[in-house]
Amino acid sequence: MPSATVKTKTTSLVDRPPVVVVIGHVDHGKSTLLDYIRKTNVAGKEAGGITQHTYAYEIFHKDETGTEQKITFLDTPGHESFSLMRERGATIADIAILVVAGNDGVKKQTIEAIQIIKKRNIPCLVAITKADLQGINVEKVKQQLAENEVFVEGYGGDTPVISLSSKTGAGGSELLDMVLLISQVAGLKGNPEETATGFIIESHHDSQRGISATLVIKNGALEKGSYAVSSGSFSPVRRIENFLGKPLEMALFSSPIRIMGWNNIPHIGATFKIVSSKKEAEEEARRTSLENKKMGSKKPQEQTYEKESGAGEKITTIPLIIKADMLGTLEAISNDIEKMRPERVQFNILEKSVGAISESDIKRAASNAKGNCGAIIVGFNIAIEERARTLADRLGIVLKTFDIIYRLTEWLAKEANARKPKIQVNELVGRARIVRVFSSSKNKHVVGGKVLEGKLATGKIFKLLRREHEIDAGKILELQHKKEKAKDVESGLEFGALVETKHDPAAGDIIEIFVVVEK
Ligand code: GDP
Repeated sequence: MPSATVKTKTTSLVDRPPVVVVIGHVDHGKSTLLDYIRKTNVAGKEAGGITQHTYAYEIFHKDETGTEQKITFLDTPGHESFSLMRERGATIADIAILVVAGNDGVKKQTIEAIQIIKKRNIPCLVAITKADLQGINVEKVKQQLAENEVFVEGYGGDTPVISLSSKTGAGGSELLDMVLLISQVAGLKGNPEETATGFIIESHHDSQRGISATLVIKNGALEKGSYAVSSGSFSPVRRIENFLGKPLEMALFSSPIRIMGWNNIPHIGATFKIVSSKKEAEEEARRTSLENKKMGSKKPQEQTYEKESGAGEKITTIPLIIKADMLGTLEAISNDIEKMRPERVQFNILEKSVGAISESDIKRAASNAKGNCGAIIVGFNIAIEERARTLADRLGIVLKTFDIIYRLTEWLAKEANARKPKIQVNELVGRARIVRVFSSSKNKHVVGGKVLEGKLATGKIFKLLRREHEIDAGKILELQHKKEKAKDVESGLEFGALVETKHDPAAGDIIEIFVVVEK
C-alpha cells in the first residue's frame, strides 16, 4: 500500500480516486454486484447509453462530508480480473472487494483470491453477497474467512465486512462508503503534471475502428496529440473516449479510457506509457517488444531461482522491491532498472511503491527469496523503519537507499554481477598453423608451422582442426624455435614441435590451445 512520504513537489501530488477490483468464486455474485453499482450510480440516461461491455467504469459517491468522490471499478470478466491481478508486478487495483456468497461460503476461488490479495498486499474488504436469501449464515462465512487468515471485525481482525444484496440493494451504499474510507486511509496520490502511465485492461480488433484498447490511468494526465506505447504496440492518441464512449479533451489518473488506432493488439495487463512523437513511440515499442520476448509469457513469481535460459544457460532471478519518495521518481527508477541487461541475471520486481521501507516489505521480500539468492530492497530518498532494518538483518535481506538514481542502478549492476551463476568457458590462448609434417611414428609427430595468435607452450593440450572441424585432441610434448628448445613460442614466430595425437596431422591443420576459466 503506498504511504506517500513526499519531500518535494508536494503541490503536484493530489488525491487520486481508487481503482477497485471485485474478485471471488464463480457465481458468488460479482457481475450482479458490479451491474448493481453501475446502474444505481451512473446517471440513468448515460447508463442506458451503454450498449457494450465497458471493462471498467467510474461512479460518484458522497463521502462522509457530503462531497462527491470518484471510484473506478474494474469490470473485466471474472477470470480476467484474476489474471490481471496476477500480472507481473502489477498493482492495477488499489482496493479489492472479496465477494463471498452468504449461502455458499468460502470456496476454491475465494481462497485463490485471498492468496492474490495477500501477495499483492492490496487493501481489501469483504462483501458477503445474496443477503436477501433465506437461511444464509454470515457468522459461518466470517469463521471460514478467519480459517483462511482473513480476519474480519469481530473475528480477531479489522478487515471490513459488509453483508449485502445486489437484488434488493441493501448494503450497497455502505459498501461504497467503506471503499472511500479505505481509499482515504491508503492515501492514494497522483501527479496531474506528469504524463499518463497505467495498465491495459482490454484490447480487441474491431472491423470498423481497427484495434482499440481500454486503459486505466494510474498516474499523470493524458492529452490528445501524444502517443501511447505498451508491450510492443503503440497508438496515436487522436481521440480519447471515456467509458461511455464520449470524447474527452484529456483524461486524468484512475480513469478508464479507450484509445483507437493501435498498430498491434497490446497485451492485457501490460503497462503503458505516453511519449510525444511517433519516432519515440516506435523506439519504445521495439524495446518493450524485445523485453516481452526476453521475459516470455512466464509470470515472474513462477520463475525459479536458477533456471535454464533458452540457450541452455543458467540464469539467476533476484526478487526486488523498489521504494521511492514520489511516484515520478519511482517510475524513473523502475524504467532504468527494466532497461538493465545484467548477464545471466534477471530481476523479478515484486513491488514498487511510494513510502519508507517497512516491516511488511521485508516479509514480502523474505517470502520470495529462494535458494541462496536473497531478495534486494532498494530505496530512493526514503527512510528505513528501524524495525524493518532489524528484521532485514535477521532474515538476510539486502537493503540499500540512495539519493542519486544512477548510483542505485550502478550498485544493482554490481550486485547482479556478484550473484550471476558461474560458468566455465574455454578461453583461446594460442593458435597456430601446421605448415609441414616432418615425421610420424605411432602417435608422435614432428611438425613445423607458425603461431598465428597468442602463444604455444610445452605440455599444453590442444584441439586439432581441419577445415574448421575439430578432428582430434593432442598434447605438445616439445617445442623448438630456430632449432633451439623453447618453453613457449609467441605469435608471429615459426616453431617446430613434437606433438602427440591419435589422428595424423597434415599441412594446413590448425592447433588451438584453450584454458578453462570460470566467469
Ligand atoms: P459471478 O459469477 O460471481 O459474476 O456471479 P453472478 O453475478 O453471475 O451471479 C450468479 C447468480 O447469483 C446469478 O443467478 C445471480 O442472479 C445470483 N445473484 C447474484 N447476486 C445475488 C443477490 O444478491 N441475491 C440473490 N438472490 N441472487 C444473486
